[in-house]
Amino acid sequence: MTDLTGRRALVTGASSGLGRHFAQVLAAAGAEVTVAARRADALAETVALVAAQGGTAMPVALDVTDTASVAAACGGAAYDIVINNAGIALDGPALKMPEEDWSRVIDTDLSGVFRVAQATAARMVAEKRGGSIVNVASIVGLRVAGNLSAYAAAKAGVVQLSKALALEWARHAIRVNALCPGYIETPLNSAFFAGEAGQALIRRIPQRRLGQMADLDGPLLLLASDAGAYMTGTAIAVDGGHLVSSL
Ligand code: NAD
Repeated sequence: MTDLTGRRALVTGASSGLGRHFAQVLAAAGAEVTVAARRADALAETVALVAAQGGTAMPVALDVTDTASVAAACGGAAYDIVINNAGIALDGPALKMPEEDWSRVIDTDLSGVFRVAQATAARMVAEKRGGSIVNVASIVGLRVAGNLSAYAAAKAGVVQLSKALALEWARHAIRVNALCPGYIETPLNSAFFAGEAGQALIRRIPQRRLGQMADLDGPLLLLASDAGAYMTGTAIAVDGGHLVSSL
C-alpha cells in the first residue's frame, strides 16, 4: 500500500538532512522524485545518492522565499506528492531577536510552505489528479522550547495551515497533513547532541534516545501514499514520547 510506483514527488530543501533522506525514501518506494533547493552542487549529491540505490531523481533550483522561483519550480510539472521540508531555525532570546531574523524564519518556514503548497495544488486541481502534501512542522509547533519563538510560531502556523488547506482542498482529492518530528539526528546537529547540553536534552526524552532519520520513514510513507488515503488535516508527532514528557 505504500508503493509509490508511477507517482511524481517533489521534496523541498532536499540538499541536506531530512530532505535528502526523504528523497531517498520516496525513490526507494518507487516514486520519481524532483529534489529542490537553492544549492545546485548539494542537490547533485542527493541525485547521485538516489541514483546509486537505483532510483530516479531530478534537481530543480528553488528558493521558497521567492515567489517567482516557486512558480518556476512548481509550475512546470504536476506532482502527486509534495514534501514541504525546507526550513531554517534561528534561535535566541525574543527580547534580542532582530526583526529581520523573525521575518526570515516566518518567510521561509511558514510562508514558504504556503507558496509551494499553493503552486503545486493549483496544478493538481487543474489536472484533476489530487495528491498528498506533507508539511514538515516540528514538535516545537505543538509545544514550546526556549529561545525558539519565531521557529515555534512558524511551525505552529504550519500545523494550522495544514488543517486549513486540508479543509479547503479535500473536494479536490488533495490531502494535507503535518509531520512533526522531535529531535532527529542529522549531519548538521550530531556534534551538538554529542556534547553535554545535547546529552542533557536526550535524557528528557521518554525513550532516552535521539530520533534517527529512518524513524520518520514509516510516518512519511503513510502520509504520502494511499496507506493514508483517509487521513487529512492531521499532525503526526514522531518524537520518542518527547511531547508527553513529565511536567
Ligand atoms: P537542514 O538545515 O539540514 O535542511 C534544511 C533544508 O532546507 C536545507 O536543504 C536548506 O538548504 C533548505 N532551505 C532553507 N532555506 C531554504 C529556502 N529559502 N529555499 C529552499 N530551501 C531552503 O535541516 P533538517 O534538520 O534536515 O530540517 C529539515 C526540516 O525538518 C526543517 O523544516 C526543520 O525545521 C524540520 N525539523 C527538523 C528536526 C531535526 O531534529 N532535524 C526536527 C523537527 C523539524
